[in-house]
Order: sequence, then C-alpha cells, then structure tokens
Amino acid sequence: MTPPSKLRLSALLMVCTTLLIAAFQTYWIGRLYHQERDGLQRSADVAFRDALYNLQMQRFHADTMLFRTNVPDNLFTFNILDSIRDRMQDSLLREVNGNKKLMITIRTDIRRDSPVWGIDTVLPAAAHVAVAKALPNIQIHRLPSVPIDLRQLDSAYDHELRKSHIRIAYTIRKTDRADTAGPTGLLTTNTVYLGISRKSGYQATLLDPGSYLFGRLAIPVLVSALLLGITILTFVFIYRNMVEQRRLSVLKNEFISNITHELKTPIATVNVAVEALLAFNALEDPERTREYLDISVQELRRLSLLVDKVLRLSILENRDVDLAFEPVDLGRLTPAVINGFRLQAEKAGATLRLHQEAVDLRVNADPFHLTSVLINLLDNALKYGGRTIEVRLERAGDKAIVSVTDYGRGIPKAYKEKIFEKFFRVPSGDHHDVKGYGLGLSYVRQIVQRHGGSIAVESEPGKGSTFTLQLPAA
Ligand code: ADP
Repeated sequence: MTPPSKLRLSALLMVCTTLLIAAFQTYWIGRLYHQERDGLQRSADVAFRDALYNLQMQRFHADTMLFRTNVPDNLFTFNILDSIRDRMQDSLLREVNGNKKLMITIRTDIRRDSPVWGIDTVLPAAAHVAVAKALPNIQIHRLPSVPIDLRQLDSAYDHELRKSHIRIAYTIRKTDRADTAGPTGLLTTNTVYLGISRKSGYQATLLDPGSYLFGRLAIPVLVSALLLGITILTFVFIYRNMVEQRRLSVLKNEFISNITHELKTPIATVNVAVEALLAFNALEDPERTREYLDISVQELRRLSLLVDKVLRLSILENRDVDLAFEPVDLGRLTPAVINGFRLQAEKAGATLRLHQEAVDLRVNADPFHLTSVLINLLDNALKYGGRTIEVRLERAGDKAIVSVTDYGRGIPKAYKEKIFEKFFRVPSGDHHDVKGYGLGLSYVRQIVQRHGGSIAVESEPGKGSTFTLQLPAA
C-alpha cells in the first residue's frame, strides 16, 4: 500500500471510529433519557397516589368519631365510605348533619368478590363504644363532609414530590370522565379515582419535564461531549502529525536524491582533472598542472561542503550527537570564520564588516559546530541578497552575543518562526532562485540550544534581517 492510501485509510478509520463513538453515546444517552423519563413517571404516579391517600387519611381521621378496627386504611375503604355518602338520602343527611353524629358500619366479607356494606344505624355518641366492642371487626366512621380541596391536594403533592427529590412544576385537575390522556407532549400521572357510585378522578400533569430531565442528564451529556471532543482532538492531532511526517519524509527523500546527484559532479570533475594530469607530463607544463590542481581543490572544497550538509541532516535526525565542549573565544573564532568566508563574499560582490565591541567573549562550545553555525548565518545573509553583511560581537551581562545583519530581501513576519523548522523555505512563488534545502537554520537552532543559548531574528521584508545568537559566557 502506498503512503497516501495508507494515510487515507487511517483517516477513514479515525472518522469511522469517531462516528461509532458518537453513535454509541447518542444511543446510550437516548436510553438514559427514556429510563429517567420512565422513572419520573413512576415516581410522580406514586407521589400522587400517596398525596391523595394521605389527604384522605387526614380527612377521615379528623372526621372519625370513634376508633378503627382491623380494616385497613386504604383508598378502597375510603371509596366505599364516599359512595355510602353518595347514596344516602338527602333527608338522612340533613338529619345526620343536624345530629352531627353519624355511625356507619362497613362489613367487609373477604369471601365475596366485593365488600358488603350498609348503613346500619344512626347512633348517639354514647353507643359507639358498645357497638365497637360488640363488633370488633366493624369500622366506624363519620363521613367527611367536604370534597377534596385541590389546593390542599396541590400542597400535599408538592410535599410528596419534595420527599422524592423531584422539583418540577405541575398542575392538578379534577376529571369526571374516565379518560386518562393528558395534554400531549407532557407527562401526566395516572388518574386516581375516588368514590364508587360517583367517581371523581384526579390527575397531575408535569409541566416542562424536558428541562427537568435535561438537568438530570446534564453530567452524562457533558462527560460524553468532553470524551468525544478529546477523541476528535486526539485524532486530528495524530492525523496532522502523520501528514507532517509524510511531508518530511518526502522532503528528506528529495534531499537525498538531489544531494547524491550534486555529490557526483565534483567527483566526476576531479576525476577528469586527475586523468588529464596523468595524460601529459605534468612537470613539463606547470601552468596547466596548476590549473587542473586548482580545479580539483575547488571541487574538493565543494565536495566537503556537500558532505557537511549530509552530516547536518544526520545530526538533525539523530538528537544524541555528541558535542565536544571546550573553551572557545568568540573574539578569535568569529574573525577567523569571516576571513575564510571573505573570498566567497567578494566573489558575489558583497562586503563583510566586523564590529567587535566586547573584549571577553569566551564561551564553552564545540568549535566545529559553532563554526558551522556562523558559516550558515553568513551563507544565508549572502544567499538572500545581502550586499553588505555586518557581524557584531557584544557582551550583555553573562551572555556573549553574535549578530549577523544583512540588507537583503528580509523575511515576512508570518515566517519568522517557521524558518527554523526542518525543511521549511520561505515560499518565493514558482521559481526557487536560491538553492537550498531548508535545513540550515533548523541545524543552527538545534546546535545553539544544545549550547544553552538562543537564536532570534528581526527582519523587515525588502530591508534586511538580523539574526542574533546568544550564548552563555564562560
Ligand atoms: P535554506 O537556505 O537552505 O533554504 P535555511 O534553513 O538556512 O535553509 O533557511 C530557511 C529559509 O529562511 C530560507 O529558505 C529563506 O527563505 C529564509 N532565510 C534564511 N536566512 C535568510 C536571510 N538572511 N534573509 C532572508 N531570508 C532568509
């Protein structure tokens, strides 16, 4: 598989994985939403029944004249009592109300499907104890005289919901019809019916269950979004890294094939020159001999520069290269490097100037690599249009400073940092008028950093650049 299709496959896999994770999380949150909604429905139902039950209990307890036996308190009993009331004759009610003492007996017969009930008698209060004692399984109530008050039910329901830690707005309605459907889109409780002969239903509707549920789901939703975000960021980061690695590998291969080609030329030239020297008697023609030897020396120098470049790339690749530190006087090293470079500069029609302001410029450095760093800076100053190149040597506190200023083409602000990256070259349209591989400055920065120093550039397009190198003074 070729690298681009590998890259595409990796991108596809990453996108698929992200989509799968997103789909799974959506499904999971959807399920969670339904569970929470069902849970809310259940709790709201239970709370509503409890609220009604407690309310009825309170009412009956308040109204109960006597005592209760082993007939359980429940909505069923209450319903029976309600319906007794419904069935009572108005005249009887009036009589009862006047008397304020009503005795009702409910006889529950568990062998039958439905309880048997009836109004046995209306007794004076003094007879209650006797009746109850005589009939221990009889429950005696006085009927509650007022219907359920919706406001009371409202606060009872509120109390029940609070007990279940549910905070949600609701409305309660009384319905006589047997329909249970509430308004669409809202959660409604089951209708609770009271009464047997004349049924009244009560139902609560939860308003805005969406925001309540969202509040419950906020943390899982946020955590999911965070996880997804981190996954996407990681994938983007990995993908960009892969693309960058691929770009570097293409550039490296290009560099190797170009440099191999360039290496062949001086070797071939020296070969031809030496063969020519062998072909005639060199001693007899010293002038030609000198010319061929000059050519050979020049070509060998070029060869050595090319080998230097290959060496630099291998240094950039392998960070563990050993530097041989020793005391170096920049005040001596720099003029020597400049002198070696002068011929090349003059050939190109450039002037080199050295301003040495400090006396003590000793540093702890690897002289071979430091020389290389200076040559790189001078070479760039010359290559990128500097007709006048100024080198300044200064000392600021415990730093020795070398700056190389040229008045050449300058560097656009956007590229001031990028030029120190491996293989980066400032784009110059379609034509690359200056030869290079974009390796010099990244080498310079790496070596300077390994010396504990730093390199920075000040530049204005069209006016020139100043590269400033700071090294800790020894
Ligand atoms: P190379 O010169 O081989 O391209 P470098 O790493 O030395 O690689 O430089 C990177 C890029 O920075 C160059 O391609 C050039 O665009 C820019 N650059 C470096 N030095 C200068 C300078 N003195 N003036 C203008 N541009 C420069």
